[in-house]
Amino acid sequence: MIIHTVKKGETLYNIAKKYGINFNALLAANSSIRNPALIQPGQVINIPRPAVQRTIVIPRESYGYNEMLNDLQSLEELYPFIEVNSIGSTVMGRSIPAVKLGHGKKEVHYNGSFHANEWITTVLLMKFIENYAKAYASGKKIGSFNIQGLFDTTSLWIVPMVNPDGVQLVQGKIATNTKAYQTALMINSGSRDFRGWKANIRGVDLNDQFPAHWETEVSRRAASAPSPQNYPGNAPLSEPESRAIAEFTRSHNFRLVSAFHTQGEEIYWGYRGLEPNESQLIVTRLVEVSGYEAVRYVESDAGYKDWFIQDWRRPGFTVECGLGVNPLPIAQFWDIWGKVIGIFLMGIYV
Ligand SMILES: [Zn+2]
Repeated sequence: MIIHTVKKGETLYNIAKKYGINFNALLAANSSIRNPALIQPGQVINIPRPAVQRTIVIPRESYGYNEMLNDLQSLEELYPFIEVNSIGSTVMGRSIPAVKLGHGKKEVHYNGSFHANEWITTVLLMKFIENYAKAYASGKKIGSFNIQGLFDTTSLWIVPMVNPDGVQLVQGKIATNTKAYQTALMINSGSRDFRGWKANIRGVDLNDQFPAHWETEVSRRAASAPSPQNYPGNAPLSEPESRAIAEFTRSHNFRLVSAFHTQGEEIYWGYRGLEPNESQLIVTRLVEVSGYEAVRYVESDAGYKDWFIQDWRRPGFTVECGLGVNPLPIAQFWDIWGKVIGIFLMGIYV
């Protein structure tokens, strides 16, 4: 049991939220409070320790859109301070959720599964949401990181799956009698093996869609029509998924963004010399905690982090998690986790 002394302006509700405990559990631990709406500065409140929590996010093969939605619902119930809302919808009408953790002024954004066959990044982000929330609720540190402090200074926004339709396609979960599937089948040259598919459901590469030298990217890329990968679309932000993440980004004031991809164990941190000086300092720390390699420039434009660096001149990163052939097998999960957990935490801390 922790003892909390009420400060001016505090309500029982925001005390419960601050400690990440259920409001009713807080009331139950303070039976002397007759009217929860009337608490006084200086009054002493008992803060119950949350019960040992069950594990929600279980990394497993074919962890897809529905598994993510179910886990988000369970996480919201268990940790009521987590906020989940939608940033828009996919071509097929699936809602794209965003998760908010923390209540600080500083805003940080992470996203995963821009590319369909890189869906293991969704599981990594979901596991991070769970562990970050759990550490906050139980008042524990992760490594040397003070999670209470990070929650107070930072609002972390995570979009775990930018491309839900594509992930479902790669995992064989799109009904074969739908028009969307038949079109994808044609784009995939008639093959029902979609493991090489990175695009959204209609064959546009969402990470080639951003207004950052998009025309240059068009002339560089081989695909001039819908394709499993590398087709930038017929205009920047032509797709609902890329538009949703662009509008979401514009409606915030992110100090740093990281897009999680697979594979290569590399961190891309520059874009045409537009990145701020501190990007180099930050990537040095990300390398220290992960063992990944920092790469400044590649022959590529129109990516999400390119656009973020260009328009905001703030630190933007593409993190290529793991090593192997996409989709990476889930058996690699904990090995990858051990290296990216530091990247997740350091990006909030810096
Ligand atoms: Zn990728």
